[in-house]
Amino acid sequence: MTDTVDTRTWQHEACRDLLNLGGRLALLVRGEGSHVWDADGTRYLDFLGGIAVNALGHAHPVFVDAVARQAATLAHVSNYFATPQQLELAARVKRLAGTGEHGHVFFANSGSEANETAVKLARLHGHATGKKTIVSLTGAFHGRTMGSLSLTPKPAYQDPFRPLLPGVAHIDPTIEALERVFADESVAALVVEPIQGEAGVVPLPDGFLRRARALATEHGALLIVDEVQTGVGRTGEWFAFQREGIVPDAMSLAKGIAGGFPLGALVTFGDNDLFYPGTHNSTFGGNPLATAVGSAVLAEIEDAGLLANVTQRGIQLRDAVCGLPFVTGTRGAGLLIGITLSAPVAAEVRDAAQRRGLIVNAPTADVIRIAPAYTIGDAEVDEFTTAFAAALAAVAATSPHPSSGAGADTEETTA
Ligand SMILES: *Cc1c(COP(=O)(O)O)cnc(C)c1O
Repeated sequence: MTDTVDTRTWQHEACRDLLNLGGRLALLVRGEGSHVWDADGTRYLDFLGGIAVNALGHAHPVFVDAVARQAATLAHVSNYFATPQQLELAARVKRLAGTGEHGHVFFANSGSEANETAVKLARLHGHATGKKTIVSLTGAFHGRTMGSLSLTPKPAYQDPFRPLLPGVAHIDPTIEALERVFADESVAALVVEPIQGEAGVVPLPDGFLRRARALATEHGALLIVDEVQTGVGRTGEWFAFQREGIVPDAMSLAKGIAGGFPLGALVTFGDNDLFYPGTHNSTFGGNPLATAVGSAVLAEIEDAGLLANVTQRGIQLRDAVCGLPFVTGTRGAGLLIGITLSAPVAAEVRDAAQRRGLIVNAPTADVIRIAPAYTIGDAEVDEFTTAFAAALAAVAATSPHPSSGAGADTEETTA
């Protein structure tokens, strides 16, 4: 047995050596811009972007340079020490999020860890106020660690791992349910995604975040937004809550923040930050390598004016898929787009797309999600549209389901 991967038998090696958790659609070896290549040299247009992570695409010179420079300067020190890279990114995130003077940032390594920090903030707030319950929404995805999993009420994810965290309640994402749950005065914090990505790019109902903000303030609870997927420009605003004209008490970030380098963050607004030395930390969290890359990625998004491109390309893509076989509409904002299908063929469409050199994903049976790089241009939009239309047509040709999306509703989120 050799330690070198045989590119013909990689699936066997994956079965032998990795936990059996699914995935493994291809063996990818290289990326550049919006394209990745597998071990056989097949090129794919990557419109999943590592699940909304590769904000600048693959091997962007800014990313490469930031990793290389910082790795050669100072990659890691413990959190007994501060570094300029960590301070610079914290200041940048506070400015972009509009936290004001009182905001604080904690750096972690993933979205789940950012949300664990949010859970601990909610507990600290709960102890200070005598309120016990953390509320999240049905359909939510907040992560896989035990605290974040407890906020993720999907039976297939939760049931094998019970008992979960006590003091967590779930409500439907409706304004009535929101008003009901706040009525009993036990809510310490409400945790919500502005757009539920894993549920199939499902926006919150109109006015939900504003009502949540008002109720949380009125009842002394924290409003915590999980912007792990929607944050750092993905929706065409720096953060999706900014589309609603509200300010949360805290926000979790990860995915796109360092363009593919593992980094998460919990950002607090106002003076709700109840942490003190000894209550929380992370060995890797906020190390100079990760935070240097985070700063470089955010600076590039800002300097290159990529938010405008996100908005414009999002509209262009939504127009492009309109009227294709099975397509009943689109949801989301910016470059986080759910394409709804008239039949449960999303997995077939994903596989047919991959055979045509296009990577998309199927978060539910009848939704295709795309989350491409913020840097895409006309060429990528055209390449996507051609391959996606061909994939849909191929599935339509063999599917027992009617493929006409005509007459179905289009669910528009503000684009
Ligand atoms: C992906 C995601 C998470 C979990 O992030 P990890 O980095 O996988 O731990 C949490 N919340 C939301 C909204 C996500 O999309």
